[in-house]
Amino acid sequence: MPAGRYAPSPSGELHLGNLRTAILAWLFARTTEREFLLRVDDLDRVRPGAAETQLADLAAIGIDWDGPVVWQSERLPGYAAAVAELTAAGRTYECFCTRREIQQAATAPHGPMGAYPGTCRELTETERARRRAEGRRAAIRLRAEVAEFEVVDLLHGRYRGAVDDLVLRRGDGVPAYNLTVVVDDAAQGVDQVVRGDDLLPSTPRQAYLAELLGLAVPTYAHVPLVLNAEGKRLAKRDGAVTLSDQRAKGNTPEDVVSAIAASLGYTARTTAELREVFDAARIPGKPWILEPDGLFRPDRCP
Ligand code: GLU
Repeated sequence: MPAGRYAPSPSGELHLGNLRTAILAWLFARTTEREFLLRVDDLDRVRPGAAETQLADLAAIGIDWDGPVVWQSERLPGYAAAVAELTAAGRTYECFCTRREIQQAATAPHGPMGAYPGTCRELTETERARRRAEGRRAAIRLRAEVAEFEVVDLLHGRYRGAVDDLVLRRGDGVPAYNLTVVVDDAAQGVDQVVRGDDLLPSTPRQAYLAELLGLAVPTYAHVPLVLNAEGKRLAKRDGAVTLSDQRAKGNTPEDVVSAIAASLGYTARTTAELREVFDAARIPGKPWILEPDGLFRPDRCP
């Protein structure tokens, strides 16, 4: 069965922007006869207990999901198999560069800004052996054969973006996000990816990787973020930004859903009510600006 999903990183509590994106992902899936899956991207930046709090908060605001939660830390063989497949096809290479070396090296002459300059792309076996002997640990990079790739996004239309020799497995052995997201979405039958538009620039890389692995490229919808009054990404210091902060102020999960609904142009107190009226074609294209602390009352949201 086709599915949508929400895939939080358990680095802390979900803030209102994350909750709004989760609600949108749920609405997109539930209004298009899809299953809705939850995956915890717990390979990196994990804070103990954060995932459990995130799942409880999602349930509290009325998001339900199908089947068991998938944890990326339990899916390592799938990522290793994908790297092995690409390696067998000659599409990877070992990279010994440190982050500092990459920053200092000039961008590849024909590559996009900020792209990996290709320092390790053509190393000989002797050169690789020397770097290993220096005690350097190799990351595995994709040997990309395009510099750009185009995706289609439900909100942004056709979007062309950079593809470089992205990291598939980090030097410390941890599979990289761009690989894991592609492998997992395909393995879980996810054909609809709804997430924050900060991830739009990574999407051409992911779609290209999916194609290389012979996997279906999902439909994408990158939704606007919630920003603070300065137009910056919402952060803890912006006040009552989590569900527990809101509870401490006396607001219920329904109050939070109402405010999120209002930010989307709807009057609804529950996700079930929102589902009845939701129209994906009417999502506001602009970020939701959350004013400084204390404002979080539904009647004052745009
Ligand atoms: N876990 C990623 C994040 O929280 C999102 C992954 C995705 O939606 O593709 O940024």
